[in-house]
Amino acid sequence: MNKRVKKLLFAILFCCLAVPGGMYGATEFFGEGFGEWMIGYQPGRVTQSGGMASSSVTEGEMQVIFLDVGQGDCTVVRTKKADMVIDCGDKGSADEVVEYLRSQGIHELEYLILTHPDSDHIGGADEVLAAFEVERVLMPDVGNDTKAYAEVLKQIEENEVVVEHPDVGDSYLLGDAMFWILCPDPELVRESDLNGSSVGIKLVHGENSFVMCGDAEEESEQAMVERFGNALECDVLKCGHHGSSTATSAEFLKVTDPTWAVISCGKDNPYGHPHAEVMAALEDDDVQVYRTDCQGTVIAISNGKELKWRGLQFDGSQKY
Ligand SMILES: [Zn+2]
Repeated sequence: MNKRVKKLLFAILFCCLAVPGGMYGATEFFGEGFGEWMIGYQPGRVTQSGGMASSSVTEGEMQVIFLDVGQGDCTVVRTKKADMVIDCGDKGSADEVVEYLRSQGIHELEYLILTHPDSDHIGGADEVLAAFEVERVLMPDVGNDTKAYAEVLKQIEENEVVVEHPDVGDSYLLGDAMFWILCPDPELVRESDLNGSSVGIKLVHGENSFVMCGDAEEESEQAMVERFGNALECDVLKCGHHGSSTATSAEFLKVTDPTWAVISCGKDNPYGHPHAEVMAALEDDDVQVYRTDCQGTVIAISNGKELKWRGLQFDGSQKY
């Protein structure tokens, strides 16, 4: 099937799926290179977003909130109709995460993505699961022999939540945004390499896009480059593994070609994140960097065309 026919078929398919509000056409959603992007695409796995209401997000807006959880990850994605959380930080920041979500009037999460079962990503997930109704949990098919992971599994069982191990190329709707699974490549999922097993996504809202891949490192980035090529291009790259030099490899940075980068890491963390090599590479490419260790919680607000940024104190008051 040539690229033009493939584009046409997928455009028809997505018109049939009634993209919410008819707000975006397929080309606007996928951007350039979407033919390649859809390799591995599985129509049967497309899921329709539900109608969960949320406050303080206006119609047609998407907010991506990179919460300052110290050395760890927690990203909240909000649309008018549905909310998602990607990772929940360590156990120590769980109360703050729950408090933040409540302060936003969130009662339900359509998706909870747990990128991989390391405690700086899933440590607070049991408390988030206990506090909110979660429709679906997406996580890699790999476990970890830790108390934190056992507690998350226990809470998942108690809540009777549907757990999915998404495949590369699966796509999901989140209100008027969409996201695709970029990684992990099935061959890289293994208990001996939890970082490499990270679930990563490309999140698209109109003309704005984000690539966020947990602690995926160079091997996983290489697999993504081979599979998706220039379709990885995005406006915002959340640097893998807290800005470690084991991620944000030269080739991955080249194909993602972001305008902005976000690094989630703790102040004076013992790993030296973000590493100087990554900061230098971002500077060389004129990428504007936001760091949770320096700026605290950082929010990107998309209206489907432009992106605006603002900072937030953890008590919810605006910082800039
Ligand atoms: Zn991590």
